[in-house]
Amino acid sequence: MQAWVVDHPGPVDGAHHPLVRVEKPIPEPGPGQVRVRVRACGVCRTDLHLAEGDLEPRRPRVTPGHEVVGVVDRLGPGSTRWQEGDRIGVPWLAHTCGVCRFCISGRENLCVTPRFTGWDDDGGYAAFTVVDEDYAYALPDVFDDVEAAPLLCAGIIGYRALLRADLPEGGRLGIYGFGGSAHLTAQVALARGARVHVMTRSEEAQQLALELGAASAGGADVAPPEPLDSAILFAPVGPLVPPALAALDRGGTLAVAGIYLSDIPALHYQEHLFEERTLRSVTANTRRDGEAFLAEAARIGISVSAVPYPMDRADMALEDLRNDRVNGAAVLVS
Ligand SMILES: [Zn+2]
Ligand SMILES: [Zn+2]
Repeated sequence: MQAWVVDHPGPVDGAHHPLVRVEKPIPEPGPGQVRVRVRACGVCRTDLHLAEGDLEPRRPRVTPGHEVVGVVDRLGPGSTRWQEGDRIGVPWLAHTCGVCRFCISGRENLCVTPRFTGWDDDGGYAAFTVVDEDYAYALPDVFDDVEAAPLLCAGIIGYRALLRADLPEGGRLGIYGFGGSAHLTAQVALARGARVHVMTRSEEAQQLALELGAASAGGADVAPPEPLDSAILFAPVGPLVPPALAALDRGGTLAVAGIYLSDIPALHYQEHLFEERTLRSVTANTRRDGEAFLAEAARIGISVSAVPYPMDRADMALEDLRNDRVNGAAVLVS
């Protein structure tokens, strides 16, 4: 089969491309796994961090992609959860140990020996992939393949970031950066009655934010028009942490949604943290977060701004993501 692999991680800048297309054998599902024929795979910023080497590769020549929508085409030994022909989603969280102190206390996102799709295990930038059956999701019928793909990481991680941001009922939420994840998270917050302010440098993204119902949209480091109860930093830009903390009201919380962030400049205690402001990270998600998000997304009829690319142009999709040329979420289509 055709698959993309991260060859030598480095800048995605046209001259050198770390993502290369190769021919690989079609994978066989192991015990408790199923094989999926890929129909669509979202392009997540994490894939870009992996390709560029911001994230250490866990395995040479891994196939990225952890927002996979496909159809079960073979069951591994002992697999019973899915049938051949089922449409399922393959997410970032590929496996947890089930026995560590985090797994047994409902915090499997913090498992000490997890595996992740497209980092430890080959992902969905390929014609086929395999998944542990217990980590796949059923997908609501209201979403077609291209719409469903970004829900699987951008949507789920954004949902967890919203939980971590402790947004109160009817509260004021600031969103820094407005791409694939943020535009989904904003809709969940709005449906829950929040007032949402979006800070992003892209004028197209500002326009999308206003169309979706944001109360305001302005530049990346422009102060929102009112103090915030909660904020989420989606842009992987450490220098935005101080202005986002300064924009919080007393007692407010800033959650950093990404797996990678450039360095945070020195903070000023009085201005950024005092008065019980809280700065939190977000690490992966539990399967319960995923189930809850997909159900809520279907119920509120979340609208997905997806930009489809042919599977054989994954290199171009990553380049466009890197250069802020994707309004919404890029999705590879087989
Ligand atoms: Zn564990
Ligand atoms: Zn992701």
